[in-house]
Amino acid sequence: MNDIPLAGPDITAHERKAVLAVLKTRVLSRGPKLYEFEHNMSAYIGTRYAVAASSGTAALHIAVRALGIGAGDHVITTPLSFIASSNCLLFERAVPVFVDAEPETGCIDPLKTEEKIEELRKKKIPLKAILAIDYFGYLADWDRLRALARKHNLFLIEDSCEALGTYRKAKTGNRMAGAFGDVGIFGFYPNKQMTTGEGGMLVTNSKRTFEAARALRNHGADPLGLWSGYRDLGYNYHISELACALGVAQLERIEEMLARRIQVADRYTRLLARSSFFEPPPAPAPDTRLSPYIYPVRVPADWPRRTRDLLIKQLAARGVQCRDYFPCIHLSPFYRKTFGYKRGDFPIAERFADRIIALPFFNRLSADTAALVVRHAEEVAEKIAAGKMRDERR
Ligand SMILES: *Cc1c(COP(=O)(O)O)cnc(C)c1O
Repeated sequence: MNDIPLAGPDITAHERKAVLAVLKTRVLSRGPKLYEFEHNMSAYIGTRYAVAASSGTAALHIAVRALGIGAGDHVITTPLSFIASSNCLLFERAVPVFVDAEPETGCIDPLKTEEKIEELRKKKIPLKAILAIDYFGYLADWDRLRALARKHNLFLIEDSCEALGTYRKAKTGNRMAGAFGDVGIFGFYPNKQMTTGEGGMLVTNSKRTFEAARALRNHGADPLGLWSGYRDLGYNYHISELACALGVAQLERIEEMLARRIQVADRYTRLLARSSFFEPPPAPAPDTRLSPYIYPVRVPADWPRRTRDLLIKQLAARGVQCRDYFPCIHLSPFYRKTFGYKRGDFPIAERFADRIIALPFFNRLSADTAALVVRHAEEVAEKIAAGKMRDERR
């Protein structure tokens, strides 16, 4: 039997046709598909501008530079994220200041953020921005973060790489993830809600940020594109026309794809309703449409990390690919070595990360496969729990 994969893209004839059409032209980079992709993405998110880039990480890096964050500037962020969301600060010798997570959604804790800001202010440490993550598709508490940013004159960077299509409903119009910060960032790696293979996008309402970001993507070039006009140190963070055509085609199907994702997630949640081991992910706030990035379940609170890891290993042996998601950034070897972080520094984030198992999750995961995954997971958990009890009795 083939393994049940952890994730996978949703590619149809529509996408194949779009990419092939580009291959039949002579313009394989920096052409009409780039502008179409950016235009359609800013229309979908509801921001004035969008700048596509070669990855979500590249878009994050450009955002940091475009906002003028540099050496010695401190930026508040969270250790519960993909490593790129704080690496992008280190690229510029800026200093990530971690704040612990909120236990339900894993997003940054706004009260602890406030305390940390006060602490840094007292010490007269230069603080420039808050970089928060819409973790697993759940919105961070943007109202409170915005109030703090306003009060202390900070930029708000929204890493919405896991939240494309999440929105908060409002009478005046829905507000999409990515549109809550001064800049929003998306990534299109194949396990995201939509993919371009590799790719990313920066969205903003600020003309200045937009122009700076566009120049930084292109070696720091003058927007008029003169060879002699490299005004700033920039990068080659372009994304090919092939990738943009794929992005345009995926974005045309985004609501259909999200409907499938939500259906798969709901199916798992129903199957797990009576589970004695697994806690399904929390329901989003009633005013929020959640775009699920993965399907993260929690193992029992009294399971240590290695028991969770054993479960993942034994499920893999049965052909069910699951994963931990994500280990805390501050505990990665590089951050430990560079900053001296250790276990216990951010207990809520650590506990959150230690209990999560991401189940196989992709748009076309059938009802039968979902039932099979849950059956395997329950059986393995049962065995582990029985073995654990035996160990304890000895
Ligand atoms: C996926 C992701 C990114 C960007 O990843 P790339 O692979 O560079 O596109 C950034 N931040 C978070 C939180 C992510 O999940």
